[in-house]
Amino acid sequence: YQTLRLILGDQLNANHHWYQQKDPSVLYVIAELKQEATYTKHHIQKLCAFFSAMEQFAGALNKSGHEVTHLTLDDTADFADFPELIQHLCLQHDVASVEYQRPDEYRLLAQMRGMSLNSKDTSSLTVTEVDTEHFLVGFDEIDDYFTKDKHHKMEFFYRKMRKRFDVLMEGDKPVGEQWNFDGDNRNKLKPQDIVEVPAPLLFERDVTAIRQRLEKHNIPSMGEMTEHLLWPTTRRESLELLSFFCEHCLPNFGRFQDAMTGNSEHQWSLYHSRLSFSINSKMLHPLQVINEAISHFERSEGKISLSQIEGFVRQILGWREYIRGVYWANMPEYRDKNSLDAQQSLPSYFWTADTKMNCMKQSIKQSLDYAYAHHIQRLMVTGNFCLLTGINPDEVDEWYLGIYIDALEWVEMPNTRGMSQFADGGIVATKAYSAGGNYINKMSDYCKYCHYKIKEKTGESACPFNSLYWGFMVRHRERFEKNPRIGMVYRQWDKQEDSAQTAVIERANWCIENLESL
Ligand code: FAD
Ligand code: SF4
Repeated sequence: YQTLRLILGDQLNANHHWYQQKDPSVLYVIAELKQEATYTKHHIQKLCAFFSAMEQFAGALNKSGHEVTHLTLDDTADFADFPELIQHLCLQHDVASVEYQRPDEYRLLAQMRGMSLNSKDTSSLTVTEVDTEHFLVGFDEIDDYFTKDKHHKMEFFYRKMRKRFDVLMEGDKPVGEQWNFDGDNRNKLKPQDIVEVPAPLLFERDVTAIRQRLEKHNIPSMGEMTEHLLWPTTRRESLELLSFFCEHCLPNFGRFQDAMTGNSEHQWSLYHSRLSFSINSKMLHPLQVINEAISHFERSEGKISLSQIEGFVRQILGWREYIRGVYWANMPEYRDKNSLDAQQSLPSYFWTADTKMNCMKQSIKQSLDYAYAHHIQRLMVTGNFCLLTGINPDEVDEWYLGIYIDALEWVEMPNTRGMSQFADGGIVATKAYSAGGNYINKMSDYCKYCHYKIKEKTGESACPFNSLYWGFMVRHRERFEKNPRIGMVYRQWDKQEDSAQTAVIERANWCIENLESL
């Protein structure tokens, strides 16, 4: 072969220009690698989903006439990283050049850019980096929108994206003359609403061979495995899930976007799309998802309201691109940020769901069972808990990076370390997403079935979130008091009697000292 082209596990973009022409002198390589399976402890479903999607992508490329080699853990067991593996393949196939698509994670980009390869006659090989052709903002344009260490308002970035890509626009005005319909959204699910939530569309992929390989190579993992893998692992399945979402979930997407319930074992993803794995692995392009959703909206004859479609578009055109911009503008320093000096360790129930706090039990159990929790469960339940109890962001990042089906560092880290833990000191969010039990009670039915009492702040049966919230606010008073978005909270606190304040802080301290027993 003349050229070797490497395809990483999250680069399954069938529309990439690489594949437009068949060239028998090009060898495509897709490889399972121990390094990738172990850089963090992944959820078993995440490992299976990536390996299965890679295998099928290789099969599809091969079927359409490309030269492809798909290597399993058995084939690559001797290679510590990609440069070692690629060097070996270059010699084996006597290639003259190597091409790769730019990785989205800093860790891998550094590895690929640091690679120096030799040919059989020991001359050095040409190595070329190309774009993944996936994101809407070009890699070289990130600096036009984002500055290191600076907060950029997501809303303004999102409006620029709406204009630039002409999405939901009428000339230079937003459709409906409003950019943001959040005010119409965010309802709680009432019991009569829950019955109407559609059960998620699940797939049934046999991943027995992959599981055997994981076992054979001692790859550690967390979480539960369903009999068959229920995540989409091909482009066709991803498109099926997209259609299902547009048909059954989009009409209520924004309305119940922040709602949580412990009363729907079979409807665990509510009206969310569960498309994050398909998009992050690049089986689907973000604009394809947006356009398909908008076309359903336009054909829906009012069944899908503007506030629902706008809420969905905002997540992908706004949040997803924004988060990636923050990541690249701030790496590598971002991964060490710990602005609140949080040093606690995660309690063991993050791996077992064995806790008396019902909101935590439900959110963690669902994550262990399905490698999935929706945004508000991640942000306002588990994330909020870690924020209030001062868990070290390295540990928080590691847990989120491992457990979720969609977790890749470029998107996981700014969401976790930034948005949820405020460890970046305000680069993503200008205020910490801290909340007491009231917020969880407002958006869910968790508290109704909890061991703890939501209305109480002190005493052994009081909801831990209530005192932990005040403990957190008081601990960080100096930092947050001047913030116009939270300053008024302190006036509320100051109105309370000293003895009441002391009791709340004592309960908060007790909770932190006894995290394991909550
Ligand atoms: P939906 O609710 O249906 O939303 C549609 C799509 O919008 C998602 O598929 C996703 O592509 C995009 N999206 C929505 N919110 C965000 C966001 N904040 N950042 C980036 N994209 C967004 N998302 C990941 O893809 N990977 C992660 O590792 C990840 N870690 C997170 C950690 C924390 C602490 C928090 C608070 C959020 C995290 N998110 C992450 C964002 C978000 O929670 C998930 O994208 C979403 O829950 C995926 O489920 P869904 O496809 O059903 O999303
Ligand atoms: Fe969670 Fe507190 Fe509600 Fe229990 S009472 S579910 S701990 S918020």
